[in-house]
Amino acid sequence: MNEGQRPKPRIVSERRRKVVSKRPPDKVERHEWTTGSGWDVLLSRDVADRITAHCQEMGNKGLEAMGFLMGDYFSWRNNVYTVVHDIFTAELDSTDVSVKVDWSYPEEYIKQRERVSGDLIMVGWYHSHPGYSTFLSETDIRTQRAMFNSPFHVAIVVDPIERKMAAFKLAVGPDDVRSKPEPGPSKDAYKEVAIGIVGMGRMRRT
Ligand SMILES: [Zn+2]
Repeated sequence: MNEGQRPKPRIVSERRRKVVSKRPPDKVERHEWTTGSGWDVLLSRDVADRITAHCQEMGNKGLEAMGFLMGDYFSWRNNVYTVVHDIFTAELDSTDVSVKVDWSYPEEYIKQRERVSGDLIMVGWYHSHPGYSTFLSETDIRTQRAMFNSPFHVAIVVDPIERKMAAFKLAVGPDDVRSKPEPGPSKDAYKEVAIGIVGMGRMRRT
């Protein structure tokens, strides 16, 4: 996503939440596009399928896909983990090696965002690298720093051709759940984290 000339909606909620401690589910399954599983980032099967379907649909046209992750975050044993309950996307300006929201259509972004249930916060974004693997590019790191700079924020990268999915979060210490990264994009500031597939029934805050 680049800085456009025209004003655009704020896309990250300013709302700050108290971090609630909650035990992650015992039963966490592996997604078949990932190598391992864990509870750093929890997706329902439905959310995972919608992400991969969107990335495949765009990938079939030789284009990158992108969308936003809506959910919540919790702490457990000095780790903060992120739960994705829903996703949405907008009009995209996409090529085979880049993607951003097309802010010529802000109403589409606002409409899609409002469709997603009101008690969820934006916990990150997903996008695809069709055929060139799952990593954070320099541009991705700049996007992450500019828009998603809290330790609960997630970047999910999908390669729909190679059928791979990876998630990245800030590499921060266990006591730094609210800390900000040092200035300047750095690959070292981010670590790949485990994705788990779970039933979502008891992953709500209340
Ligand atoms: Zn990328």
